Amino acid sequence: MSAGWVAVAGLGPGSEALVTPEVTAALAEATDVVGYIPYVARVAPRPGLTLHPSDNRVELDRAAFALDLAAQGRRVVVVSSGDPGVFAMASALFETLEAGPVSWRDLDIRVLPGITAMLAAAARAGAPLGHDFCAINLSDNLKPWNVIEKRLQLAAEADFAMAFYNPRSRARPEGFARVLEVLRDACGDERLVLFACAVSTPEEMLRIVPLGQASAEMADMRTVVIVGSSRTRVIERPGGSILYTPRSVPKDAA
Ligand code: SAH
Repeated sequence: MSAGWVAVAGLGPGSEALVTPEVTAALAEATDVVGYIPYVARVAPRPGLTLHPSDNRVELDRAAFALDLAAQGRRVVVVSSGDPGVFAMASALFETLEAGPVSWRDLDIRVLPGITAMLAAAARAGAPLGHDFCAINLSDNLKPWNVIEKRLQLAAEADFAMAFYNPRSRARPEGFARVLEVLRDACGDERLVLFACAVSTPEEMLRIVPLGQASAEMADMRTVVIVGSSRTRVIERPGGSILYTPRSVPKDAA
């Protein structure tokens, strides 16, 4: 039996040009691709490759399925969008590995990085993450809402730029409106916000507004939201404005 393996791979934000050569090579060697339906749909079918699309809510089952296939000698790529280590399948796979049979620990498991949504969005807009920043998943599927609010408050207090994934949670449609309220209280109406939707796809749309004009409807499940720090600013120019955060904070800043 040939040696099986699992590669947990990031497909980037959407564009083929943003898939790394390492991921392309793993897909070319794979016998099986496992993942959420729209991500598996991004992999071209070919003879000898079996595609296993599944629903989003079955991450741990999907991970166990992939590990089982590899234990049978198959070469398995588990696909995520963006980077597989950012709110995605890599951690789900390791949670499953940790709780699973000891024999799984002998498997060849690799994580292949991808370009995560916030980096693709930041690059399109300029460099809003050019100084210290944090990333917060606003979905409360896997953590209580009070944890999200506490992290928001403290990140605002620390004056981080913030990238928000999953801004509109199906389970809590009013959640993002509350996030904007907390941020307006903590950062003021002038703080700049980037709404970056479907970055690197034909539907890409970027919008920069001050917090005072931001509304929950500006985001959907394909949007990553970046809130600047107090230093983040805009350079206006005819070709479209540039949003960036300078690399330094003055010595006398609190
Ligand atoms: N692993 C992924 C994130 C998965 S969570 C990554 O590293 O990018 C899904 C969230 O990612 C979405 O709700 C959205 O906030 C963000 N996202 C994914 N692709 C995106 C894109 N092309 N443009 C904007 N945001 C995106």
